[in-house]
Amino acid sequence: MEYDLLVIGAGAAGLMTAIVAGGRGRRVLVVDHANRAGKKILMSGGGRCNFTNTATSPANFLSANPHFCKSALARYTPWDFIAMVDRHRIAWHEKSPGQLFCDESSKLIVRMLLDECAAAGVRVETGCAVSHLRAAAGGFACDTPLGHVRAASLVVATGGLSIPSLGASGFGYEVARQFGHAVLPVRAGLVPLTLSGKHQERFEGLSGVALPVEARANGHAFRDAMLFTHRGLSGPAILQISSHWEPGTDLRIDLLPGRDAAEALREGRAERPAAELKTVLSGLLPRRLAERLCEVWLPNRPMRQYRDAELNGIGAQLSDWPVVASGTEGYRTAEVTLGGVDTDEVSSSTMMSRRQQGLYFVGEVLDVTGHLGGYNFQWAWASGHAAGLAV
Ligand SMILES: Cc1cc2nc3c(=O)[nH]c(=O)nc-3n(C[C@H](O)[C@H](O)[C@H](O)COP(=O)(O)OP(=O)(O)OC[C@H]3O[C@@H](n4cnc5c(N)ncnc54)[C@H](O)[C@@H]3O)c2cc1C
Repeated sequence: MEYDLLVIGAGAAGLMTAIVAGGRGRRVLVVDHANRAGKKILMSGGGRCNFTNTATSPANFLSANPHFCKSALARYTPWDFIAMVDRHRIAWHEKSPGQLFCDESSKLIVRMLLDECAAAGVRVETGCAVSHLRAAAGGFACDTPLGHVRAASLVVATGGLSIPSLGASGFGYEVARQFGHAVLPVRAGLVPLTLSGKHQERFEGLSGVALPVEARANGHAFRDAMLFTHRGLSGPAILQISSHWEPGTDLRIDLLPGRDAAEALREGRAERPAAELKTVLSGLLPRRLAERLCEVWLPNRPMRQYRDAELNGIGAQLSDWPVVASGTEGYRTAEVTLGGVDTDEVSSSTMMSRRQQGLYFVGEVLDVTGHLGGYNFQWAWASGHAAGLAV
């Protein structure tokens, strides 16, 4: 079987590459070893796919080379993808500022991508693993259950390692190494953090408690909700900061973001001098958390017994609470994989390898990882679009 382009991975980036290349008249085969295309898209956004973020900018991405994503993102914007969604009459809404979700189901996004593939004459084969991949005269060759495949260009769109049960594999990294590319160390990102030992015991029983916080680590800060889980901490603020956290990193939580905690406590003392600290704190924080803080860490007395200096100290603690996380929940639940194929050896305008003519990398397999909120899909669409125009 002869194709102009073989795309390995029928996820977000691979399908977009195929649509654009097929639309330019290229003969395209997309193969995926999973039993259906776009499994992560189906699971994403709680089944409603947060398919882009209208505030997308290079600042929303982590990479050893923060400039790499700029060109592709500038040439395929959230509005380009929204235009496709609108053309397919898929209803969507803005949940939080900038974050766009399907009204109905992420199935509609996968359907749209597959319809676009069909319209562009792209062949998509699932349940189709690739073996013996190699450079061959005029391009690449490999074996598949469909038979021997030859293609002038090869796009590696196999994504990262998160959620192996959805088809994630390290295949793309192996291909990269095979052709002489460096692969930067990978780790789980946008992932819940775990606590252990006394750090877990002290929060035991708080599972399900949620509150707005600002999570800070390594000079980064995210203001959003935090959720106590059975094993540690989750919620958007924690998922976001997890991408900037590694074991040993100092992690701080502002439990009263945007408020002067000491002032709030002084006001509480003025209004209810006979009330205990835990009662006043229960007006500022979820009650179960306020009680636990007073059981384990904070002195609990009637408010009138606190001097200003003490309340200032407690306020400072609440605004900069140190958390000792032991690890993350890992790839089993992570939304993304940090690290990956080093972008130094890939063209930022075409996604083509600088080491192997005709070899391309798109999407999450590259060392480009977005924040939570639709940015990762926008990177998949934009990098796929850039490669699709070049192959
Ligand atoms: C639970 C969850 C929810 C998410 N929600 C969102 C969200 O709402 N918004 C957002 O922007 N991002 C979200 N993400 C992240 C987003 O899904 C990914 O960043 C994005 O899918 C990456 O696109 P990709 O095409 O590079 O990789 P993928 O979409 O992962 O596609 C890679 C494809 O390659 C296939 N593959 C892997 N190995 C092989 C192999 N050896 N042979 C053949 N095929 C192979 C896989 O089966 C898969 O179909 C979420 C991730 C998860 C896990």
